[in-house]
Amino acid sequence: MIIEKIPQSRFSEKVFESTTFGKDFSDHMLIANYKNGQWSEPKIIPYQPIILTPAAMVFHYGQAIFEGMKAYKNANDEVFLFRPEKNFKRFNKSAVRLNMPEVPEEIFMDGLKALVDLDRQWVPKTEGTSLYIRPTLFATEEAITARSSTEFTFVILMAYSPSYYTKRLSVKIADYYSRAAPGGVGFAKCAGNYAGSFYPTEQAKSEGYDQVIWTDAVSHQYIEEAGTMNVFVRIGDKLLTAPTSERILDGVTRDSVIQLAKDNGYDVEIRPVAVQEMYDAYQKGELKEVFGVGTAVVVNVYDAVGFGEERCQLPEISDEDSFGMQLKKKLNDIQFGKVEDPYGWRVKVENQQ
Ligand SMILES: *Cc1c(COP(=O)(O)O)cnc(C)c1O
Repeated sequence: MIIEKIPQSRFSEKVFESTTFGKDFSDHMLIANYKNGQWSEPKIIPYQPIILTPAAMVFHYGQAIFEGMKAYKNANDEVFLFRPEKNFKRFNKSAVRLNMPEVPEEIFMDGLKALVDLDRQWVPKTEGTSLYIRPTLFATEEAITARSSTEFTFVILMAYSPSYYTKRLSVKIADYYSRAAPGGVGFAKCAGNYAGSFYPTEQAKSEGYDQVIWTDAVSHQYIEEAGTMNVFVRIGDKLLTAPTSERILDGVTRDSVIQLAKDNGYDVEIRPVAVQEMYDAYQKGELKEVFGVGTAVVVNVYDAVGFGEERCQLPEISDEDSFGMQLKKKLNDIQFGKVEDPYGWRVKVENQQ
């Protein structure tokens, strides 16, 4: 790995006062190029723009995938990643579906660790804050013929993540638009899934909601994902979440929350969750919580759910009584190194400097 250090660090403690997510990039980035069937040696260089021709295929045909993960610092200034091998595997699953080359482990994992190590001062220590890590792969061949690119660029960027989305969001259940289709790319973290979701999300915003709960594309009768998060529903004391499928992203947070919920004695059912079942439960006063889970926000317990024209206010619930908030705390305690990690989820970033 070639490492070209920034002549003068841009770091200042002021970065950690920022309240915006994903705008304050760290000193360095990783870059590797794929051409003629081969990966170049990865380089860590100062964070900087890259030059692309407007004919770069990513702009025309959207071959682009990404990942989202975080680095955390514990009280002893040690830096950890959380289950990074899951992001690595998912990245390459996305790559295969978008007909892009898989990124070798030496480039992704070793590059990731070297980059986080080099910029470790950018990892904040306050609980709830972290350094967000964004691996991305996109098509760079200069051609506008409609076919798969043969050249790609892989980058890893890192930016400060304040603790965010503390406000409870309200979500509208999709009854017309769809995020993913059977046989489609819903399970892949590809850029186009996001592009296609912005317009319906804006529509929901104009109706007073923050996000959309996506339903199955065929009948709109089963819930699938909430915005860019996996979704959990609590009916009575039962926690329900949809099984992952080719339409649902296999979230690391979802998987961790299910494990923590089971090991803490919650009654968890992984099965299709019907919109009607949620609405019936709401009418009986049994719809206690609906929450989204994902790396960026960890857990967001929703304030209200829109069923068709009807906005249904979820009950007030204290953090102690909320399954979502309790599970968030348990997950955060492991991520921030406050408790033992019986699952081996934390991966320490060794200090090589
Ligand atoms: C990234 C993402 C998630 C959450 O996955 P995590 O691994 O928990 O961050 C859920 N749904 C979609 C559509 C996503 O893109």
